[in-house]
Amino acid sequence: MTQLRGVGIGLGIAQGPVARMAEPFPAPSDAPSTLDAGSETTRVRDAVAGVARELEQRGAQAGGAAQDVLEAQAMMAEDPSLETEIDARIAQGHTAEWAVHDAFASFRDTLTAMGGYLGERAADLDDVAQRVIARLRGVPAPGVPDPGHPFVLVAKDLAPADTALLDLDKVLALVTTEGGPTSHTAILAREKSIVAVVGAVDATSLVDGETVIVDAAGGLVLTEPTADELDRAHRRAADRAAAASAPVTPGALKDGTAIPLLANLGNADGAADAVALGAEGVGLFRTEFLFLSSSSAPTIAQQRASYEKLLAAFPGKKVVVRVLDAGADKPLPFLNDAHEENPALGLRGLRALRASEDILREQLTALAEADAATRANGQGADLWVMAPMVSTVEETAYFTAIAREYGVKTAGVMVEVPSSALLADRILAHADFASIGTNDLTQYTLAADRLLGSVASFQDPWHPAVLRLVREVGAAGRAHDKPVGICGEAAADPLLAVVLVGLGATSLSMAPTALADVRASLLENTLADAQRVAEAALAADDAASARAAARAALSVPATA
Ligand code: PEP
Ligand code: MG
Repeated sequence: MTQLRGVGIGLGIAQGPVARMAEPFPAPSDAPSTLDAGSETTRVRDAVAGVARELEQRGAQAGGAAQDVLEAQAMMAEDPSLETEIDARIAQGHTAEWAVHDAFASFRDTLTAMGGYLGERAADLDDVAQRVIARLRGVPAPGVPDPGHPFVLVAKDLAPADTALLDLDKVLALVTTEGGPTSHTAILAREKSIVAVVGAVDATSLVDGETVIVDAAGGLVLTEPTADELDRAHRRAADRAAAASAPVTPGALKDGTAIPLLANLGNADGAADAVALGAEGVGLFRTEFLFLSSSSAPTIAQQRASYEKLLAAFPGKKVVVRVLDAGADKPLPFLNDAHEENPALGLRGLRALRASEDILREQLTALAEADAATRANGQGADLWVMAPMVSTVEETAYFTAIAREYGVKTAGVMVEVPSSALLADRILAHADFASIGTNDLTQYTLAADRLLGSVASFQDPWHPAVLRLVREVGAAGRAHDKPVGICGEAAADPLLAVVLVGLGATSLSMAPTALADVRASLLENTLADAQRVAEAALAADDAASARAAARAALSVPATA
């Protein structure tokens, strides 16, 4: 047996045969066509129409957000200006394959240059081009394989369009060679409860058909497992399935200490599922998703409708809404300067809002109106509002003052920058609560871009430097008797959740599908256990040893 190391997402374990994601086609040759232009044009028209119909059909099958993505891709395929560009290349004597490749590439460059949301659509255009070229060649399109049986999907990383249609009955587990715990694949795995190990650099050695065990709890992929190891993995998977079907109870430690378990949501549509999975409220409502698809800020009325829907889904419950966090990994053309060299260190989060204060004021107006309207209907929630990317005490004072101008009763800040964690005692003198965003806090503490695969190994919230900063915030919360929540992906790691509580977190917010594992893990430990295990992790030199120390302190098995 060999062990390949990566970053595990959640505590799952699965086993099965590998199926690798096919690599994209290399660029077609630009040798002149041997067919006449009319025949090449007919081939392209047939291929494009075939791809568009296939995307529409797959969209209709998938429904929901995936349908929108796939229908948009079908429209891209049949865009008349692309058709003109392709025809022009064929008229110059090029093959249909090359004409498609080159025309799509020039559109791609235009989109990329626009940046922001449109720039991110460039990958969707590439996907369409690959599908058209595959049809022209009469071969299957690169992408998620279909070996005809359930499989462990091994890929470099997954594009949103790949993930939209993953058949969860067939995909037993995901292994990626790139990406970290906050990559798109990791977020998807958490959302859909797929067993996953990401950033497993050595997984490039895996071959189609070989059986592996994917142990997310250990962050390991085990190759050539023995019958005994397969058997143990199977039993662990069965134990987890039992935990998932355990009764949904409010979050609490073994000694009864309440640790409310809240949901991270980007859209009010996810509220019903979150409630069904036992979310006791919302710990992070990411409002950027309302803004991402438009070229200007949504109106107050549009925002208000969305916030009303959210608040009405959690009557009497805590709902923490984060004002717009634009910039870096979530750029918005109307708020951010696409030319910043280091957008993660630029005018992002609260800094960007302050520079366009009208947008912040409109958002606060919409929130206040939604709060009043839902209360008037007897459906009101307990609305808390917080600001992202706060890095100074002065920014905290600015945000809490402006939020209170709009009648916000509970105004807080996210702690995502080391300066805020170190000054948490001063920050909590102004803010009513702190919510630690461990994704960005890890990125800034370790100086490792959260989107960059090559530094994914640094992006680990188990790092003792991050844990020490969390401890500062926890201590400040206790001193001021103010709540300290965690809303980064770290809260969804059942073992790390215990450590975070030991460091002073008073609530945990996560993707709703992670709630069952975290609930079960908290119930196995008292507050004294959590503090002991936190001390063990804090004393480590690095993330891997902190995880191992915590595991040893709680006697969690290291491997299958
Ligand atoms: C975080 O940074 O941990 C966080 C919760 O915010 P986001 O992931 O949206 O940046
Ligand atoms: Mg953040």
